[in-house]
Amino acid sequence: MSNEASYLFYQSRNPRPFLDRGEGIYLFDENGKRYIDGSSGAMVSNIGHSNPRVLAKIKAQMDRATFGYRLHFRTHPSEDLAAKTVSLMPAGLDRVFFVSGGSEAVESAVKLARQYALTQGQPQRYKVISRFPSYHGCTFGALDLTGYDPLREPFAPMLAGMPKVPAPATYLDRDNLTEEARGLKYAELLRDQIVQEGPENVLAFVMEPVGGASTGALVAPDSYYGRVREICDEFGVLLIYDEVMTGAGRTGKFLAAEHWGITPDIVAMSKGFGAGYAPLGAIVAGKRLVEPVLDAGGFQHGFTYAGNPLACAAGLAVLEEMEEQGLVENAARMGKVLMAELESLMERYPFIGDVRGKGLLTAFEFVSDRNTMAPLPVGLDAHTRLVELAYARGLIIYSRRTRGGTSGDHFLVAPPLIITEPQI
Ligand code: PLP
Repeated sequence: MSNEASYLFYQSRNPRPFLDRGEGIYLFDENGKRYIDGSSGAMVSNIGHSNPRVLAKIKAQMDRATFGYRLHFRTHPSEDLAAKTVSLMPAGLDRVFFVSGGSEAVESAVKLARQYALTQGQPQRYKVISRFPSYHGCTFGALDLTGYDPLREPFAPMLAGMPKVPAPATYLDRDNLTEEARGLKYAELLRDQIVQEGPENVLAFVMEPVGGASTGALVAPDSYYGRVREICDEFGVLLIYDEVMTGAGRTGKFLAAEHWGITPDIVAMSKGFGAGYAPLGAIVAGKRLVEPVLDAGGFQHGFTYAGNPLACAAGLAVLEEMEEQGLVENAARMGKVLMAELESLMERYPFIGDVRGKGLLTAFEFVSDRNTMAPLPVGLDAHTRLVELAYARGLIIYSRRTRGGTSGDHFLVAPPLIITEPQI
């Protein structure tokens, strides 16, 4: 079928070839051409494609029941996946609410925070601070938290305009501070913002522990994470980690939060959690937050497909596969190999200004001047051109304009966690 005959649209018309099948880290188009899935799609396919054990478990659930509405039945897949998820969380995160994707997860986290505040007699708390640049999703609530101008602009008059603080874009920051001091500097910007908003009005702070598409695998200095936790505690602001991209092992720990020993109040996950075998996501919070909400009449929120047994069976099979293959550990090991390779590219090519990331969430950035980190001219459209060149040669990488969408070209390299050293 030619593209002219397509009735389907996404962000734009879709010029790509038809997908035929997947196998491990590879995808094959209808013409038999093989691609390395170097970005796990959109950082989704963590356990690789068409894993036969996972498919068998999904099939077994399909043969029993594909849907049972959660208000009509409990299901074993949803209960078992919740229990498995909690077993992989830091202590204190022991209540799970299922959704079907990342935007739903982020909005669910914010709504849980809000209802918790109401149970605490704090109805004035409603402001949710997030960072710029950032990506938290494209539904209205999640979009309002998203710090990425091209996505916001068409809808700007319709957004609430929640406050933003700068994400620690430390590769651009040319101050003379030590790493530690720089991390603290960015954390203090959050504190200033909370004070400016009136701490009694601030409900939550939402952050990606390692940035994704909007920042290009941005990792803050270590000092940032603990100080942010302290500041949130100081003002009774709930700390929400958006681990939609980083969760489920992508960075070499099950949650990226574990790298810094942080326990957020609420975690949002999706992407690698269903790993492309089902549209699936979850928020995880402590019973400290959830029980008062349930006692006060319940969470006034929920999606038709939440906790459906088919998606949950897939999610459970994915987590079991990750455990059996030791994929979180593999992500940590292979992440080091990948980072060393990216660093050697940087030595060879002066237009690579930075390489960064954690585990198998890595990125490199093109610049016209390494010293100033000035971006390449916008007209060069380097990010589209490199993505297309790689695609033509059978390698899929993921790119978006960086720096809030205004300038800069970064490329995410985030292969499935099953990748081996020769494949890297
Ligand atoms: N949050 C983060 C950190 C993401 O990376 C994404 C997707 O890229 C989302 C939220 C939104 O997820 P979804 O596209 O599944 O709604």
